[in-house]
Amino acid sequence: MNNESKVEDDMMMHQFLSSWNETAKEVHQNAVKKGFWDAKRNQGEILALIHSEVSEALEELRKPQAEGQKVAEELADVVIRVMDYAVGYQYDVGKALLDKMEKNRWRPPKHGKAF
Ligand SMILES: [Mg+2]
Repeated sequence: MNNESKVEDDMMMHQFLSSWNETAKEVHQNAVKKGFWDAKRNQGEILALIHSEVSEALEELRKPQAEGQKVAEELADVVIRVMDYAVGYQYDVGKALLDKMEKNRWRPPKHGKAF
């Protein structure tokens, strides 16, 4: 990678992190406003609720006439819950996402697994 594309890459990552963090903060502020953080939340419960949104996406897919937009809506719920959790517990998910994408770029096909 030449210097120019490295600079562009760094700028794009910076913009992504800015947007991610700003959006996550807004998501969390809304959850606080709606009373979800009136008491310190249990992390196991939060993770279970994230999982429940994944299950809702699966249930939509299981319908004979599954609607793509409804699946997308459940996936959005997953992201919203992850963002809320990350801000509430100060996990830097935006940076972890970029780091993980870079790591995955260099992993073998199927990350060395059968599927
Ligand atoms: Mg949902």
